[in-house]
Amino acid sequence: MDPLLMVQQQIKSALELTNHEPIVYELLAEPKRFYDFMFPVRMDNGSIRLFKGYRSQHNDALGPNKGGLRFHDSVSAEDVKALSAWMTFKCALVGLPYGGGKGGVVVDPKELSPLELERLSRAWVRAFHNEIGQFRDIPAPDVNVNQQVIAWMVDEANIITSSSQNAHFTGKPLDLGGSRGRIQATGYGVSYMVRKAAEKIGLDLQGATASIQGFGNVGSNSAVMLAGWGVKVVAVSDMQCCVHNPEGFDVAALKEYSDAGHPLDEFPGVTVLPRESLFELPVDILVPAALEGAITKDNAKKISCKILCEGANGPTTPEADQILLDKGVFIVPDILANSGGVIVSYFEWSQNLYGHYWDLDMVLFEEEKMMLQAFDLVYEKMTTRNIKNMRLAAFIHAIDRIAEVMKLRGWY
Ligand code: GLU
Repeated sequence: MDPLLMVQQQIKSALELTNHEPIVYELLAEPKRFYDFMFPVRMDNGSIRLFKGYRSQHNDALGPNKGGLRFHDSVSAEDVKALSAWMTFKCALVGLPYGGGKGGVVVDPKELSPLELERLSRAWVRAFHNEIGQFRDIPAPDVNVNQQVIAWMVDEANIITSSSQNAHFTGKPLDLGGSRGRIQATGYGVSYMVRKAAEKIGLDLQGATASIQGFGNVGSNSAVMLAGWGVKVVAVSDMQCCVHNPEGFDVAALKEYSDAGHPLDEFPGVTVLPRESLFELPVDILVPAALEGAITKDNAKKISCKILCEGANGPTTPEADQILLDKGVFIVPDILANSGGVIVSYFEWSQNLYGHYWDLDMVLFEEEKMMLQAFDLVYEKMTTRNIKNMRLAAFIHAIDRIAEVMKLRGWY
């Protein structure tokens, strides 16, 4: 499903249960500003290749636009627009002073050499530098963008503006003004939300089983935290395959193995299954932590879990969402479940602006506090309105907040 239609449907469903004026839908259905550029990059063999890049600034009523930047061959305008809208709702939901942004480049970075990747990252900044800035739009890592890419981008922006500021990007390496805990933030946050959901449904995490779809930064860090609480992570999948161990993996060892660039299917003692079987294994907890649209009406029928905690953005299509709700699955929606990343990005930005840096304990404590408060708020909204749907409750809360500020600003 087109992710932009998906987010528009989510906005409509939330607005049906509120009394906002129809203009609120118009203001939120499309990004306020959207940029796309073709930009040239010189390849190692001397040839020039043109790349398509995007940045979407969905809504800046609450503050500067904020959101990641992804390098992936599936990136499209609709995709980036939808992802920027989810950022708007995510930031509003957890109480950050940000609007939503998202960007991307249509590229499979695995095809590029390290030098080509650096030239591409710098070229993106040259194309988009007028549109970003610490009080305008602050990019961060998303799929296939790591701290090194962000470091090149910070440097390029500094060259262009003859300055050495660093609050215009987050997800920076520590020595370049990054925050402690930013790398683990999204994955750990997902686990806090699993723990809260487990409390609500009376599931004991000790001995509970979990499957993790996607073993990148988000999936692997949430798996490590869950395993630390006694959860048996029995299945993990990536782009190639699904690996299964009914006794539960030594997750820290699996992460170390995978971070070192080894394929999951070569990890000692695993049973290798087709990728799609991850959704068919009966588990207590399912964490989709890859791309949008992974859970569809077809595989949702086969899913039997008690908690679905969305580490990815937009992993569940609306049809699949309904199937899972009908089955009684407790869903922690993406805009809540994966908000830990942007929360710690906010801490990074404020540390940069303030020039004073926090220790890891403080970062993790404050992140957890914000996420638990947001969970309680959404849960309360869901129960008082009797809607049995955390996603809907989360959207209602986020939209109420943005609508109020847009009204104050006189946008309608
Ligand atoms: N890409 C992450 C997200 O989708 C983080 C964004 C940020 O830190 O600004 O939430």
